[in-house]
Amino acid sequence: MLDRNNELGAFDRDHFFHPSTHMGTHARGESPTRIIKTAKNATIVDRDGKESLDAFAGLYCVNAGYGRTEIADAIAKQAHELAYYHAYVGHGTEVSIRLAKMIVDRAPDHMSRVYFGLSGSDANETNIKLVWYYNNVLGRPEKKKIISRWRGYHGSGVMTGSLTGLHLFHNAFDLPRAPILHTEAPYYYRRPNRDQSEEEFATWCADKLEEMILAEGPETVAAFIGEPVLGTGGIVPPPATYWEKVQAVLDKYDVLLIADEVVTGFGRLGSMFGSEHYGMKPDLITIAKGLTSAYAPLSGTIVGKDMWNVLVSGSDQLGSIGHGWTYSAHPICAAAGVANLELIDNLDLIENVKTVGARFRNGLQDALGDHANVGEVRGEGLIAAVEFVKDRDDRVFFEADEKVGARITAALAERGVIGRAMPQGDILGFAPPFCLTAEEADTVVAKAKEAVASVLG
Ligand code: PLP
Repeated sequence: MLDRNNELGAFDRDHFFHPSTHMGTHARGESPTRIIKTAKNATIVDRDGKESLDAFAGLYCVNAGYGRTEIADAIAKQAHELAYYHAYVGHGTEVSIRLAKMIVDRAPDHMSRVYFGLSGSDANETNIKLVWYYNNVLGRPEKKKIISRWRGYHGSGVMTGSLTGLHLFHNAFDLPRAPILHTEAPYYYRRPNRDQSEEEFATWCADKLEEMILAEGPETVAAFIGEPVLGTGGIVPPPATYWEKVQAVLDKYDVLLIADEVVTGFGRLGSMFGSEHYGMKPDLITIAKGLTSAYAPLSGTIVGKDMWNVLVSGSDQLGSIGHGWTYSAHPICAAAGVANLELIDNLDLIENVKTVGARFRNGLQDALGDHANVGEVRGEGLIAAVEFVKDRDDRVFFEADEKVGARITAALAERGVIGRAMPQGDILGFAPPFCLTAEEADTVVAKAKEAVASVLG
């Protein structure tokens, strides 16, 4: 077994260009290769037979849990019946049409249609194009700028990497590109003025957004994009009243709202969509990960009714929309989506997110909240983070090269639990599968406590 792994490890280092990986240390064999072989529910098993409790559900995407035969069987059945047909020029497949209806039925009331893609990144590319098309159809060719937020994550393509507000995704890629701008992150723990209450900080964020819109000229600002809960930027729920204040600014200046629900869509916060959870009124909603629980790559852009009507009038003026991917609405992926959404309903997994999520977050707070190097324990539903600081009273952060977050995450992995070192700051993130049991939640908490003690005392 070990030899097979060693051989595969060599192939891996010599031939596989990994995403989000240090290319040098990996190719030189200085960092570990882990080859995952199988998985069930929340537990993954590697080729050496080592089991780990995956408290990040892959990349917060295997929401229904691993090894679901219902989804695997639906994929196989569809592959046998019809592996592919395109969706251009009004074509469709039974399963992709059914899935579109299931999504709209679950989405906020004012949503209308789904455009299917394959990844969160390409869905956000679609969003930007739709926003520009919309304003061209309305005769407002100047209204094209998109405001995103520092620490937002929206993908890593040219446009979506520009929307992303994390330096790692910009550095040496010549990003961000115009016409993307970044406003303040709604990150209460890191607020510049520590005297502010959550509501005051939310007002400050909304004021900053308004200042930016006014400075740029409202006639040039087309849309604002945000995740209901900041994800990769640190797993940060918004401060109280944030979304209602931002929504008011957007409404005032006729700026569209794109809710990026790639992480929060289909239950992660304990409600079907984060937009409902926070009372947002998006014109577009981005979905991906939890749509199929990652059993097949599928994303979507859910379009609101008002926007849809404008897009239709665009087609009446200009002809068919010049936008499409070969694999839009791929039937195998759609079959995974239908089976996954049915499973989430049948097993009442969103209810489990609420109950086990609350137990998990309270457990983390009890186990780590008083530690001298824990600045904050935060989360919502079944997504949570622990932020580490050098000095909690004065909120002094560790130097990046101390790699505290990465060391704690590695110490946790040694103890059989997978969390994620979030890329900017010393933040240990968790987003387990929705089927996490109470016992597993307690195990993650206990192991996290041990891992923190092993690195920080
Ligand atoms: N939007 C959000 C909120 C995400 O978290 C991600 C990925 O983590 C994306 C978009 C990009 O999705 P993908 O990696 O499928 O392109």
